[in-house]
Amino acid sequence: MLRVSLIILTVLFAVWLPHPPQATGAGTDQEPAGGAPATAGGVLDIDPGRYGSIQHVRTPLPRRTIALTFDDGPDATRSGQVLDILDARDIKATFFYVGVYARMHPERVVATARRGHNVACHSWSHPTHLRSWSQSAQQSEVRRCFGALEAALAGEPPEVRARLEPMFRFPGLNEGPWLAGWLNSRGILVMSAEGGTDDWRGISSAEIHRRTLNVMEASDGGMLILHETRPNMIAALPGLLDELVARGFGFVQVTAGSEGRERALASEDAVLLSR
Ligand SMILES: [Zn+2]
Repeated sequence: MLRVSLIILTVLFAVWLPHPPQATGAGTDQEPAGGAPATAGGVLDIDPGRYGSIQHVRTPLPRRTIALTFDDGPDATRSGQVLDILDARDIKATFFYVGVYARMHPERVVATARRGHNVACHSWSHPTHLRSWSQSAQQSEVRRCFGALEAALAGEPPEVRARLEPMFRFPGLNEGPWLAGWLNSRGILVMSAEGGTDDWRGISSAEIHRRTLNVMEASDGGMLILHETRPNMIAALPGLLDELVARGFGFVQVTAGSEGRERALASEDAVLLSR
């Protein structure tokens, strides 16, 4: 019994062990005097590692700054609605796409990247127990997803192709330590978040609005997960963004930057393949 408990404790520790960011580039770990929010549309370079205080170190954003992320798309009809809402407010976000849907709707991937938003990988088929799969199957979920995103962007100019970030978010945030390490060693950032809002549970727009404000106030900003596949989230989004701005929050787009992208492309056994 003791032995089992120790094993469980060891596994839990391995999963939750914070991985501090490595040497930080310009703009990271800032704590501006007075807590001034970042300018809307700002960009923040971060280095390979694992981010998001739900599971790891806090994403190194200035106080009252939010990095918007949208999971589970691209959705044939709703992706465009989200982009319109963001563009009307000059906010840039990062979209964690499911490879299967990216292959079905490559035009949505292209539209997102052309409009200045980042795209990243949320696995090929969104298995919520990916961590229990064989290592080769876990790798395949990553490679096929990035492959679908690269294929969608293949005909685009370099500045649009560069919108594909070396970033991965585990489905359901159900992170496995083996794959997280495998990703990091290939220059892929593992992105958790500071807050989610349960919009995927089918709660009302009013409840999404209320919970998101509470979560972001409690964490003083940070990386936020929303789901573009949820109509109630989309209905809530315009009012939610406007209220966050009224409360003094700013928005920033996180990126591995050109250095991070090059590092991923140049790594041995790379996941990112196309410049
Ligand atoms: Zn998801």
